[in-house]
Parts: sequence; structure tokens; C-alpha cells
Amino acid sequence: MPGEPQDDCLFCKIVAGHIPATIVRETDTTVAFRDINPQAPTHVLVIPKAHYENAATLAAAEPALAADVLGEAQSVADEDKLESYRIVFNTGAGAGQTVFHAHAHVLGGRGLQWPPG
Ligand code: 5GP
Ligand code: ZN
Repeated sequence: MPGEPQDDCLFCKIVAGHIPATIVRETDTTVAFRDINPQAPTHVLVIPKAHYENAATLAAAEPALAADVLGEAQSVADEDKLESYRIVFNTGAGAGQTVFHAHAHVLGGRGLQWPPG
């Protein structure tokens, strides 16, 4: 069933509390936690608690939940008082997606170049 937890999914395990994470924000529908391999002073991942493979399948199935994720990403940026920052959804292996549970990266606290490569 779309949205159901997947046994082999790292981020579903974080949602379930089976793998520890440094959680910075949580709502009924989302969790935000620090990336284990931070690429910037602020590097937080915001995920829906429900399992969708990537941003495309999430937005197609549950647009309101996709909006929750984006809103929480903005709240992370606000909390860390980031003036310039990047919110990224890597979508597909060719774009660098390695964990196939939809997530927004919130990156900030240093200068960021564009295009990212
Ligand atoms: P992707 O490459 O799929 O866009 O991003 C996956 C992110 O998850 C990477 O930035 C990676 O560092 C992070 N990550 C992988 N495993 C873990 C983990 O066990 N805990 C946390 N907090 N982050 C993880
Ligand atoms: Zn999952």
C-alpha cells in the first residue's frame, strides 16, 4: 500500500524509533533530523512519516503531505535563522538520491554555489 512503512527502509526505521537520529522537529506527519554526514553547518533532513519513494511519488499521492514537508523545511531554516539556504529533493539515483524515502535536505550556514554539479 502506498505510504505504508517498508521493512527495509532506513528512514522508516528512524520514524519508528528503531534507529537513533538527532530529531530537531516533529509533527503528526513529519520528522526533521540532522544528516549523519553534514555538508553544511545546518544540514537537516525533513521526511514525511509515511513512506513514499521520492518527492515525485509523494507529491502525486499526497500533495498536502508534500506541503507539510516543505513547510517544515522552511521552519528549520527559520529556527536556525538562515538568511541564505537551499532546500533540495534529490529525486532518482542519477540526481544523487541514495535513500528511497522522500526527504528534503535543508542546507545553510555557509556559502553555497550554483549549479551544484
Ligand atoms: P540522498 O542522497 O538520498 O538525497 O540523501 C540521503 C541522506 O541521508 C544523505 O545526506 C546521508 O548522509 C543521510 N543518511 C544516510 N544514512 C543516515 C542515517 O542513518 N542517519 C541520518 N541521520 N542520516 C543518514
Ligand atoms: Zn521509508
